[in-house]
Order: sequence, then C-alpha cells, then structure tokens
Amino acid sequence: MNSAASRPLDVCIRGQGAVGSCLALALSRQGWQVGLAGLDAAAAPRRGPDVRAYALNAASAALLRELRVWDALPADAITPVDAMDVRGDDGGQLGFSAWTQAVDALAWIVDAAALDEALAQALHFAPHVQRLKPDDPRMQARPAGAATDLARPLLAVCEGRDSATREALGADWHRHGYGHQAIAARLVADRPHQGVARQWFRSPDILALLPFDRPAPGHAYALVWSLPDAQVAELQALDDAAFEAALNAASGGAASGGAAGTLRLAGPRVAWPLMLAQAQRWCGPGWVLLGDAAHAVHPLAGQGLNLGLGDVRALVDVLVAARADTPWRAAGDERTLRRYVRRRQTPTHAMGTLTDGLLHLFAAQDAPLRSLRNVGMSAVDRLGPVKRWLTARALDA
Ligand SMILES: Cc1cc2nc3c(=O)[nH]c(=O)nc-3n(C[C@H](O)[C@H](O)[C@H](O)COP(=O)(O)OP(=O)(O)OC[C@H]3O[C@@H](n4cnc5c(N)ncnc54)[C@H](O)[C@@H]3O)c2cc1C
Repeated sequence: MNSAASRPLDVCIRGQGAVGSCLALALSRQGWQVGLAGLDAAAAPRRGPDVRAYALNAASAALLRELRVWDALPADAITPVDAMDVRGDDGGQLGFSAWTQAVDALAWIVDAAALDEALAQALHFAPHVQRLKPDDPRMQARPAGAATDLARPLLAVCEGRDSATREALGADWHRHGYGHQAIAARLVADRPHQGVARQWFRSPDILALLPFDRPAPGHAYALVWSLPDAQVAELQALDDAAFEAALNAASGGAASGGAAGTLRLAGPRVAWPLMLAQAQRWCGPGWVLLGDAAHAVHPLAGQGLNLGLGDVRALVDVLVAARADTPWRAAGDERTLRRYVRRRQTPTHAMGTLTDGLLHLFAAQDAPLRSLRNVGMSAVDRLGPVKRWLTARALDA
C-alpha cells in the first residue's frame, strides 16, 4: 500500500473487508487516488476465527483474477464445485453438474481467511492507495441535511451489515432478523468429496456441506448449518463428539448411507446471526453504500459476497464511464451514483426475495405444501432449460 502519497483523493473507502479491499484495488488499477480505512484489530468486533469458506461464482472469480488476487491464493484455498446435490425433506431431489451445464465449475469454494490475506498482500503493493485512520476528516459522514460539498472525495461505505456510518448518513436500514443463526466450521470426511456440494432444505434447518481441500485434500468440507437460535445454542453447548454425532445424524452419516460419509470437526465452530436487510437509500450527495453495508441475505444460496463484488464491478464501471463522459462532475455527484444504484438494486432485491422465499417455503409444516415443494424440486430436476437458467443466474449474481 502506497503510504507516502499526499495527493488529493478521489474516493475514500471505509471498511477493509473483501468488498472494500476489492473496491480499492479496482479503482487503483484505473488510476484513481484512493484512501482506505479499516478498524484496528482491537476495535473490530470478532466472533472468533473466520472459519467460513465462500462459494464464489464465475463473475466474482473473474473480478479477483483481474485484480491479481485469484492467482495469489494458495492452490488448496480454492476448490471447484463440479456438482451439486440438493435434497428436500420428503424425497425431493435436485442435481446440477458443471459438465451438463457446460461450465468450468458451478462455483469455487474459497477460504475466507486466505482471501483476506491475499487481498491485504495485493493492497500492500497497490499504487494510488493510501492507508488512512477512520477518524480522518475525509472519512467522515456528513450529517444528513448538511450542505453538499462535492469537492470532497466520494465516501464509499463498505463497513458490513453493522455499519455505523450508514446510520450516521440516515440510509434507513430495513432489517428482518430470522431468529436463526448459521454454524460455520471445517470438517473432514472419511469419503472423498469428489467436488460435490451437498445441501439439505428442511424445516427447521438448512444444512450445506461445501467441498474443500483444507485441511484434508479431497476429504474436507466447509459447513454452513442454519438453525433457529435455540437449537444453535444447544448445539454450540455440546462437546465436539456430541456435535459430530448430531451433524452425522443430520447429514445421513456413513452408518445410514449418507454420501458424504462420517464427518469430523477439524477446528472451532462459529455461529453467525442471519437476516434479510437492505438500506432504503444506497447513495446520496458524496456517499455510496456497497456490500453488506447495503444489503444482507441468508447464506443458503451462498450469494452475499458475490452480490458485494457485483457492487464493486458496477460502481467502478459507472465511475469510469462518468469520468470519460462528464469529466467536470465530481465522483460523488449523486446523478452518477444513482446509475450504480439502478444497476444493483434489481439483482440484489431478486436474490433477497429468492432466498427469503425458499426459506419460508421449506419452513412451512403443512403436509400438502411439504409434498408439493418436494415434487416441485424433483420436477425442476427434470427441466434442463430451467436448470441452465438457474445455473447462469447463480454464476453471475
Ligand atoms: C456463515 C456465512 C456463510 C457465508 N457464505 C457465503 C458464500 O458462500 N458466498 C458468498 O458470496 N457469501 C457468503 N456469505 C456472505 C459474506 O460473508 C458477506 O456477504 C461478505 O463477507 C460481506 O463483505 P463486506 O466486505 O461487505 O462486509 P464485511 O466482511 O462485514 O467487512 C466489513 C469491514 O468493515 C470494517 N468496519 C466496520 N465498521 C467500520 C468502521 N466504522 N470504520 C471502518 N471499518 C469498519 C469491519 O471491521 C470489516 O473489516 C456468508 C456469510 C455467512 C455469515
């Protein structure tokens, strides 16, 4: 990261998660002067080590490749998903394969901590990126209603779902807590994963096993197990052996013929509260929201970061085009920023509706609906064009 620079900044980015880091790298590659402020480790609230692995789609992989981050990731930190096996709660079954969909992979499972590390390394060498303190005056939200000062750099807020700056900007965060949490952990299986992601849609839990190569090449999974708060508390109170027994019962375990085999924990488990949320305003004069600071979705479709990286791509495209077409306008001109919002609100809203709809569909207990959703799942399985459409949407959120 270029710390010597004292040139006037074009964009100030608050938040150094994956979205803020990618935005800084992408703007820097376009020659924009960028200020970046994260929280010190002591100030950042942590719920333990980041044991997540992200399912990233083709659009996200392409962006990370352009930013020279993808190829810097260790080989065992990226595992392609060759097939998906989705089960309902009454015999429903839906399968996808990269081969029949004629794509390289359905997704790539990427180690969250390795991605953070690779992004930090790339930022270290990025030209045009200045590290600033969060209390730098250029990083501050101007109070709602304050006179517009477009001579200031654009403030891009990438602070995640609990963003304080979004609140200060009055962006009006509509949040629906599900009363559910996702338990994330790393697992090792006694059977090879063969690149197959496995997911069970049931009530009240949704269980996902994402094939992974850390810590056991060909035999590891990243777990994302969403359950109501009370059940998460019970499971988290169990010792590892009892937790593994509950998990093996839920995934069919080797003893009952579960295809993943017997699963063992390979590290700590961490629980994340789940919500559907969206800011009612994504931009204003001189400021814009991206990533989880703008929207949060249930991780059942593994799309939160994909949406955030889609925001990065769209904002950079819009800013670069505006600088070419209307160079006299400041980067923070709201007319420009609204173009970004128009591009991103529709796919984000669609993904929120899809994940929310699936969650409610599988939460309903009455027998006719239960039967219908399983029949529907198996029917989609037989519809090649629908599966191709679903695959294309998932690969490019
Ligand atoms: C269990 C689980 C599994 C998931 N799986 C997937 C998946 O498979 N695929 C996928 O695409 N997505 C997935 N997601 C979603 C994904 O984790 C998020 O969408 C993504 O991390 C959001 O990135 P972000 O950079 O917007 O926010 P964050 O990752 O929250 O980063 C925000 C950053 O801003 C910093 N910050 C906060 N406040 C301030 C401040 N005031 N000043 C400066 N900095 C600040 C924080 O310290 C943090 O570094 C999953 C989420 C969960 C919970």
